Amino acid sequence: MTNGCLHSEWRAEVKVNHIADVDRYMVDVRVFCVHCNRNLRFLGLPAGVDMNLAAVSADGLEVCLAAVPEGDPVRALGADLRGFTMATLVKPHPPSVDGGTA
Ligand SMILES: [Zn+2]
Repeated sequence: MTNGCLHSEWRAEVKVNHIADVDRYMVDVRVFCVHCNRNLRFLGLPAGVDMNLAAVSADGLEVCLAAVPEGDPVRALGADLRGFTMATLVKPHPPSVDGGTA
């Protein structure tokens, strides 16, 4: 609570995008305080976009979730015949004590 707001009520904005060429869905989630509009910054997920995994945007304010409809078969995109995949993700730095990003 660095801005005086008690952050007592939160709202989520969810966008579902269908990536047609690989028939995969990406769900983007942002959570913000209703009173001061401050965003939650998500911790512990790699930064980037990977259609096989959950990740966060570079600023950590949006979670990007890979998804398929319930009951649909799941296959790792880009996997070799043994199921191994190559990912290009950037592990985030831990948050600083003062709330900054660097
Ligand atoms: Zn607030």
